[in-house]
Order: sequence, then C-alpha cells, then structure tokens
Amino acid sequence: MTTPERYTKHVLPTYGRFPLVPVRGTGCRLWDEAGKSYLDFCMGIAVCSLGHCHPRLVEAIRVQAGELMHVSNLYQHPLQAELAEEINTHHVKLPGKIFFSNSGAEANDGLIKSARRFGLKRPQSDGSQRYEVITFLQSFHGRTLGAMSATGQAKIQEGFDPLLPGFRHLPFNDIEALENGIRPETAAILLEPIQGEGGVNMATPEFLRAVAELCKKHDLLLFFDEVQAGFGRCGDAMAWRMIAPEIQPDGISWAKGMGGGVPIGAFWLNDRTVDADGTPLSSLMGPGSHGSTYGGNPLVCAASLAVLKEIREKELAVNALLMEVRIRETVKSWNLPVITEVRGQGLLLGVALDSSLIAVPEGKTAALVVVSKLMEHGLIVPPAGPNTFRLLPPLNVTEAEVDEALAIIKMTLDRINII
Ligand SMILES: *Cc1c(COP(=O)(O)O)cnc(C)c1O
Repeated sequence: MTTPERYTKHVLPTYGRFPLVPVRGTGCRLWDEAGKSYLDFCMGIAVCSLGHCHPRLVEAIRVQAGELMHVSNLYQHPLQAELAEEINTHHVKLPGKIFFSNSGAEANDGLIKSARRFGLKRPQSDGSQRYEVITFLQSFHGRTLGAMSATGQAKIQEGFDPLLPGFRHLPFNDIEALENGIRPETAAILLEPIQGEGGVNMATPEFLRAVAELCKKHDLLLFFDEVQAGFGRCGDAMAWRMIAPEIQPDGISWAKGMGGGVPIGAFWLNDRTVDADGTPLSSLMGPGSHGSTYGGNPLVCAASLAVLKEIREKELAVNALLMEVRIRETVKSWNLPVITEVRGQGLLLGVALDSSLIAVPEGKTAALVVVSKLMEHGLIVPPAGPNTFRLLPPLNVTEAEVDEALAIIKMTLDRINII
C-alpha cells in the first residue's frame, strides 16, 4: 500500500492534502519518497525557523533526549525557567510571565481564559462579569473550540454550532467599527498584527494605535496573536514592533516558529497592575487555574532555547528583512500582471494573484492552482486565502536560495499566464 492509500484508509480526511510525501530535509531542501528534491518555502507553515534539521537544534534535542525528556509541571525544571527568561529578557523585553502550551490554539485558549479572569476582577458597572473578546474578520486563531470560536472566518466554524459564546468579529483595520463595537461585557481585544492564514494582511499603524488607545479607554486587555508572525519572522523578535513599537500588550500567544519543529506554544501575560491594590495581571492565572501535562517539558524547552538563541545570536530577524527586500525588488522588476501585490513583512510574505488571468478549475482556487504548479517545478509554498500564496522560508535562508525560488516562481507564472 502506498502512503496516500494508507492515509485514505486510516487517517481522518480533515485536510485536503497534496500528493507530496516528504521524508527527509536539510536546511531549505526537502526530499520526497521517490527521492525528488524540493526547495521548501513553506517550512511546515512558518514552523522550521532554522530550516530542516538545523545542527544546533538537532544536537540540543539529542542531548536532552538522553538526559531527561519529561517531568510533570508539578515540579520545576531549569530549562523551562531558562526559556521563559530568554523570551522575557531578549524577545518580549517587557515584564511578564509565561505559560507553556503545545500549540498555538492552546496558547490562544489560555489568553481567552485570562480575559475571563480579568473580566471577573474588573466587572461591568452593575457588578456582572465581563467576558467578551473582540477579534477580527479573516483572522485565524486555531482549531480548538475556543480558538475556532475566536477565529473570524465562517468556513472554519461551519457545522460546529453552538460555538463558544463571548466573541464578536469586527472588520480588520476599521477604527470606526471598533469604536462602535465595544460593549459593556467586552473584556479584551485579540488580533494578529499580521494576519497569516487569512491572506497576509497587515494591521496599519493607525489601527494598531487606535486599538491600544481604545483598550486603555475602556479598560480592556490587548492581546496579540503572534503564533505565526513572532520570533523574528517579521523582522523583529515581535511582529507588532514592526508596526507600532511603543505599544505594550497585555497578552501574547506564540507557537509555530518558536520550536523550530517541536510542538511548543506559549502565552504571556504582562506584570502590569490591574487594580489599586497593585494586583499584577499575570497573577490572575494562579494555582489551579490552568495546566498542561506536556506543556514546556524539558525536551521541547531545550529545542526552543536552541532555536531562540540561534535567532538572536545570528540576528536572523535582520536577515529576514534583507531577504524581504530582495524578494520585493525582484518581483517588482518582473512587472507581471498576474501578481497584483506582495503583502506582509520580513519573511511572512503573501504574493497576491489576479485570479482572472488564471484558468481555475471548478472547486479550486487560483492560489491552489499556482501552488500545485510550483510544487511540480520543485518549490513548496502554502496558500493563504483563495488568491494569495505565502513565502515562508527559514529565517536563515540565503540569497542563492531566494534567487532559486524566485526563478521557479517566475517560470511558473510565465507559463500559467499563457493558458
Ligand atoms: C497556526 C496559527 C494558530 C494555531 O496554531 P496551532 O499550533 O495550529 O494550534 C493560531 N494563530 C495563528 C495566527 C496561526 O497562524
């Protein structure tokens, strides 16, 4: 039986999967079962920040696997403490505290729970709890019941009613709609500074600043979902700093690139006080309020520490910015009508397509047509919405690798245009 046949027989068909079966990778390069090699600009959807099987990451996992893989969160482990310190000191650079989860959706669930605790501590004027979290259309926050309910895309929620109550989805980058959308029960605003899955849409600086001001004015928590955009991908350790660096969020969620391939996520809460007694926000999630059996175990913390130190020490966020410039300039020089725009920041880039110039079969999208053709030609990239594909190479991608990927894109789009 082939691998796709085994999938059909034994694996739930929750994904519309490509026929690709990768089995080995190094750096930007990936090989399938048949030995064909690809340039990988998907990287497990922005997960493998250092590329496949980076020696520093492999060594960290190898050593820790032989030392101690897992202990309960009932106890303390030096690596979880060290990782939290690394993140606070060198990446967030604000006083706060961290909970380690196993995925981005779980990290967002943690933020949603924190909003409810905050809404209890700071209730409505009639004394009833605030609980609502405002999120935005085209957002993506994950697939758990909580994170899915937070997500502002009907197709993610279809058929799963009743959703978790307490969310409202407002138009992104629309200050007026937000001003009019805050209600007495609202406790927090959650947004991706750069929306990834929803098509690579950046929050404008004006919008981000207005969100922060409205949070202050209405005593709301400001949460950033940096699951895809965080830890160097957008040119700074934190993506919001590329847009409005003066903003100090109350909560942040991460996953994807922070582990370089091991399953780890986290959420962070600010130490700022929430009342006149000096109660820190980060203390609202006290003993017994939350937990995870695996979250932040020694093995994944060792891996994440190796990844985050490599990103910091080699200044890979700077490389992300340099490569962004190279990509933008090259794409611009092509002057191809089929490319309408390059959106995003650093190495979270979306190439938007003019779907009217592409022959799209029934049930497919322009993005899927182009992504499949690129794969045939040896380049792996993920779609983002119906008309955009993403470029998510590792943060240490070289000029030569970028040029090679761009050449494949040019050749593929030239041919697709002729159709
Ligand atoms: C991928 C993603 C999530 C969900 O992360 P999982 O690890 O798949 O649960 C949440 N938010 C954003 C912005 C993401 O890109």
